[in-house]
Amino acid sequence: MQETCHFRRLHHWGLPPVYSLVLGIDLLEKTDLKSPLSEKSPYISIHSFKRVIEMKAAMLYGVKDLRIEDIPVPKAGAGEVLVKVKAATTCGTDLKIFQRGYVEKVIKLPTIFGHEWAGEVVEVGEGLEWPEKGMRVRAGNSAPCLHCTMCQKGKYNLCENMIWLWGAYAEYVKVPARMVLVNMQEIPQHVSFEEAAITEPFACVLHGVEEARVKLGDTVAIIGAGPIGLLHLLTVKKMGAEKVIAIDLVEERLHFAEKLGADETVNAGKVDAAEEVRQVTGGYGADVAIEAIGLPSTWEQALKLVRKGGTVLEFGGCPPGTEIKVNAEMLHYGELTMLGTFHTTPLHFKKALNLIASRTIDVRPLITRRMKLEEIKEAFKILSTSKSEIKIAINP
Ligand SMILES: [Zn+2]
Ligand SMILES: [Zn+2]
Repeated sequence: MQETCHFRRLHHWGLPPVYSLVLGIDLLEKTDLKSPLSEKSPYISIHSFKRVIEMKAAMLYGVKDLRIEDIPVPKAGAGEVLVKVKAATTCGTDLKIFQRGYVEKVIKLPTIFGHEWAGEVVEVGEGLEWPEKGMRVRAGNSAPCLHCTMCQKGKYNLCENMIWLWGAYAEYVKVPARMVLVNMQEIPQHVSFEEAAITEPFACVLHGVEEARVKLGDTVAIIGAGPIGLLHLLTVKKMGAEKVIAIDLVEERLHFAEKLGADETVNAGKVDAAEEVRQVTGGYGADVAIEAIGLPSTWEQALKLVRKGGTVLEFGGCPPGTEIKVNAEMLHYGELTMLGTFHTTPLHFKKALNLIASRTIDVRPLITRRMKLEEIKEAFKILSTSKSEIKIAINP
């Protein structure tokens, strides 16, 4: 039924067949559907809710300049959906943007901050027969155009016309029409809003480890035991990694990684990480190394952690203009594969939510604190200094 609904949405918006590829729909099987948009269609329902004029939102004006303001509640236009945010989760990217800024292509200031959220549909724009008012959903934080050259090549995460959605740290968030179509999912009843909000970073991690081709029996070294490093840890364990080595500078985080299943932990502030990884891999190095921090020094360090023929996934984004040194001998004679991955695709978002819902990957331990929207500045202060907080769930 889910797919039929999607098809109706596609049909209405007159989108090219390439959408079917993204959403995994066999259009040929569905061509016998009657016009889904006939006047009598029971699927068309335009809802309205008692309009609240203003809402609280955390507006980001610049580096470390985050303000709680009362702003107008957005209205859902044609094809758009207005959602009451029930939970938003803090993200390493948010912290990075808060502390040092980010590329303008992705975030234009001032803006409502935050991008990991889940909530309840309160208003459905004209022309949409899905979702329904009251439905529990998650969406975003991106939607590819499906038309550009990169999309046509199947690299949806590199779409040249990507739209980004910021606005999680607010009472309401308006989901753009394209995002309703390609990157919004219903949340199963047994999944909490805060769990569902983690779909976004998890989708990025899934995309990364798939590209890095982690295999059953691999030894994987992960630099960084923050939220992203820990998501990598949970995922590669499920993919059959025989040994996972967590590397960080903070002892508390390494303990946390151990609790989540890390087989070995290395405090890179106390010992030489490359030496240590070699020691626990019989002198060879890991099959795969994942950098989950976003610093040139750790990007370079990751290259020293793998065996000949190993793979290095540079996952953490470095500041624009960053360059790193690569040992050509290692790359050539050691046949290293070095790759970067950025963001994720609608397919991975869908897969991520399913894996969270089935608890194949249990993301619940990653939420270490819950705070109110009004306390958002405090939340970022805590994240900047705390050694033990992983993700904070913000409840408006
Ligand atoms: Zn995120
Ligand atoms: Zn595109």
